[in-house]
Amino acid sequence: MLTSPDLAAHRIAAEPYYRPVGDEIAVFEAAWAHRLPVMLKGPTGCGKTRFVEHMAWRLGRPLITVAAHEDMTAADLAGRFLLDAQGTVWHDGPLTQAVRHGAICYLDEIVEARQDTTVVIHPLTDARRVLPLEKRGELIPAHADFQLVISYNPGYQSAVKDLKESTKQRFIAIDFDYPAPEIEAEIIRREAGVEAGLAATLVAIAACSRRLRGQGLDEGASTRMLIHAGRLASGGVGLETAVNAAIVLPITDDADMRAALRVAINACL
Ligand code: ADP
Repeated sequence: MLTSPDLAAHRIAAEPYYRPVGDEIAVFEAAWAHRLPVMLKGPTGCGKTRFVEHMAWRLGRPLITVAAHEDMTAADLAGRFLLDAQGTVWHDGPLTQAVRHGAICYLDEIVEARQDTTVVIHPLTDARRVLPLEKRGELIPAHADFQLVISYNPGYQSAVKDLKESTKQRFIAIDFDYPAPEIEAEIIRREAGVEAGLAATLVAIAACSRRLRGQGLDEGASTRMLIHAGRLASGGVGLETAVNAAIVLPITDDADMRAALRVAINACL
């Protein structure tokens, strides 16, 4: 017996706000036209997830998102037999649902998954466009509207944890980074509901924190963190407290680094 999911829950009804920063929409649409798999590369909190939500809405496709993690197995993606009152029932995993029913499947931070898990996507990302379900003895041809999208943060990669070359080379890549200052300020204004002056100050703070990247900080403040700081500040918290709570404390546990970051940020205020 096969349980069939209702993909209606994965449809995006209202337009997710996305401020384009380059030609990423055109590149994605061209990739979609050929159902080519796409890799969104960039640091955390810079708009990759929002972009894929926007594109799924724009293309009128349901979006199934999976956050990859190191314990994720191929069965977590493909599906498994489970026992219930009727006996043993097969449950499609999220990737299989997308393949069968024509959704965009977004595998977030795919590199977190083990390489033996990652290889299940190989036959889907070449001319075959099939998903083998070994446990069911089934080979599923991908629905005409199925597309695979993955995200990848190059800053986190190490020799032990990286995508195989044979995986990387299957994807069209789109580079993401923190947007230019005036665009980032526009996004913060809109997302946090703050006025232009405060948005510009938060962007200046981000620039200071991003200069410390590689000098004790793995990454500077992301656009997401700036939005959080803006929301706290617009909720009545003082700017210094908001920046401390939304940026300094989450970004590092190291007391010296926190102090250095506060000095750098105060110089920007
Ligand atoms: P990522 O997936 O890269 O970690 P997100 O897409 O979750 O990051 O972005 C974090 C937040 O930043 C989003 O929820 C959104 O509020 C905002 N954001 C970043 N870039 C953009 C953009 N270009 N347009 C609109 N919102 C953006």
